[in-house]
Amino acid sequence: MPEYKAPLRDIKFVTEEVLDIYGHYAKLPGAEEATPDMVSAILEEGAKFAERVLSPLNRVGDQQGCQFNEGVVTTPEGFKEAYQQYVEGGWPSLSHPEEMGGQGLPDSLGMLVTEMISTANWSWGMYPGLSHGAMNTIEQHGTDEQKQTYLSKLVSGEWTGTMCLTEPHCGTDLGMLKTKAEPQEDGSYAISGTKIFISAGEHDMADNIVHIVLARLPDAPAGTKGISLFIVPKFNVDDAGEKADRNQVACGSIEHKMGIHGNATCVMNFDGAKGFLIGPPNRGLNCMFTFMNAARLGTAMQGLAHSEWALQNSVAYAKDRLQMRALSGAKAPEKAADPIIVHPDVRRMLLTQKAFAEGGRAMIHYCSMLVDSTKHGSKEEKEEAEELMSLLTPIAKAFLTETGFEAANQGLQVFGGHGFIAEWGMEQNVRDCRIAMLYEGTTGIQALDLLGRKVLMTQGATLRRFTKMVHKFCKEHKGDKRFKSYITALDKLNSEWGDVTMKIGMKAMRNKEEVGAASVDYLMFSGYVVLAYFWARMAVTAKTKLEEGTDEVGFYTAKLQTATFYYERILPRTKAHVEAMLSGADNLLAMEEDNFLFLNA
Ligand SMILES: Cc1cc2nc3c(=O)[nH]c(=O)nc-3n(C[C@H](O)[C@H](O)[C@H](O)COP(=O)(O)OP(=O)(O)OC[C@H]3O[C@@H](n4cnc5c(N)ncnc54)[C@H](O)[C@@H]3O)c2cc1C
Repeated sequence: MPEYKAPLRDIKFVTEEVLDIYGHYAKLPGAEEATPDMVSAILEEGAKFAERVLSPLNRVGDQQGCQFNEGVVTTPEGFKEAYQQYVEGGWPSLSHPEEMGGQGLPDSLGMLVTEMISTANWSWGMYPGLSHGAMNTIEQHGTDEQKQTYLSKLVSGEWTGTMCLTEPHCGTDLGMLKTKAEPQEDGSYAISGTKIFISAGEHDMADNIVHIVLARLPDAPAGTKGISLFIVPKFNVDDAGEKADRNQVACGSIEHKMGIHGNATCVMNFDGAKGFLIGPPNRGLNCMFTFMNAARLGTAMQGLAHSEWALQNSVAYAKDRLQMRALSGAKAPEKAADPIIVHPDVRRMLLTQKAFAEGGRAMIHYCSMLVDSTKHGSKEEKEEAEELMSLLTPIAKAFLTETGFEAANQGLQVFGGHGFIAEWGMEQNVRDCRIAMLYEGTTGIQALDLLGRKVLMTQGATLRRFTKMVHKFCKEHKGDKRFKSYITALDKLNSEWGDVTMKIGMKAMRNKEEVGAASVDYLMFSGYVVLAYFWARMAVTAKTKLEEGTDEVGFYTAKLQTATFYYERILPRTKAHVEAMLSGADNLLAMEEDNFLFLNA
């Protein structure tokens, strides 16, 4: 049976030893309570909840899925009870403001708990995950009254939230959305239209659902500049702030899909539903970016979650499964055959998963510490964190979900044919993981955002913010023979990042299609370089610990060995990405549309 154990040792390594999270909290206004004791206690309790309550429900969710009956959605057995425990444990309020009933702890601490929840049971974790995005949006753009009415119930977990963007004819291109918002005499709006693919749009886990909906006002300009944002509750709310009569929004059906069966993906019909404008008219997409950026980091977490889950289960299997002898002679002569972990190719697969899981953990928790700074840092810290986040969000979202899928796939491969059989859970991990590269903006769309909006449109300013930091790190360690192999490669790639950007920028001046043609290779190249930076930092920390003397020699040595594996076996992929991205748009655009297929003999 597949199992999940919270990787507390590795979380501690990344946050305390590499990223210095306590140094960060010491400087962060409002983070005084996040002391080492408090953080450890939260992590231990979170680990228990993830391991004991959520992990056993992961397979149940996949097998039972959600059921739909005349507008009512029933979640798989145990999901509702687990949510009750989550609420009673105070988990929804962890990193939300105290004035709304929250515990006011840093976002980055919330993300550590989210990692454990996500890995134990992604489908379940999406319900509170979407609420978190809804809370952030109301916190940042809502009026005081809206905060009072909706935020306190979301923070307590009594109500959950959703994000309603997609319509049947538009997913990526939200400028085409048609849902209407008609102003009413009482200051509210009547919202009409159909949204599809709405995660957690309807379910039985909470008393009320607060939909955050994109719609158009009657006189709105066409395209993305004419979209506004609305709060639309499933049940209207009375003057006392309690749930009242049913609003005119209902679930029309749920999707039958490849994975994440435990999470309801809903068609939501808004039929003159009462809604309330949030943020300024026609600026809805800007406000929605608060939700989308949180959701993008959340989806990056999904990549890490499936990598970690694959790694844990495939390592256990590889130590246990006996097949063939090592090429150099028997390693376990007392057994009928050697465990498959002796074979180099199995190790290649395990180390790939380890490099992506542990490297991804460093990348994500670094990003979530930046999120803390965007909210609570000084003016300069905010500016810097915002710029770094604007560059790293598309990279984390797309790169970590692509590598997450690769890791999930390698995890299955380690099981041989048994990986294809449901009881081992590896095929569920692959199926559940696949959506991460699609929703919250596909890999292609993140890549355009990175290269087009974030890098070229800022004339490389956001990129330089990051590459300068990497350069500084390389300079600090350049003369040190112990780190030569990592630092030389990282430094070279870091400058190459600037060079290829210039080259694409020049080509794009002649032909804009060059941006789209280069973008996914550019994003993957960027992801490998960012991950190389974190692996170099982890290697420096591990080596230093080993030299200082430690009784965890195995742990730190494995870090160095994984860093070496990453640099020698994964990082060379950057060369292929450079060649492909600079090969130009012609090899993609030359073919006539009619010549893609010739089916008749
Ligand atoms: C299980 C599930 C849950 C979801 N949850 C939510 C949710 O909670 N809320 C919500 O609002 N939505 C949700 N979605 C919708 C999801 O975000 C969209 O499906 C996604 O953004 C892609 O939109 P689309 O499906 O319309 O694809 P399209 O936009 O039609 O794209 C099709 C293909 O064309 C590519 N493409 C499109 N435009 C370009 C371009 N300019 N350049 C290059 N390539 C391009 C895309 O990358 C993609 O490969 C969910 C979807 C699923 C399947």
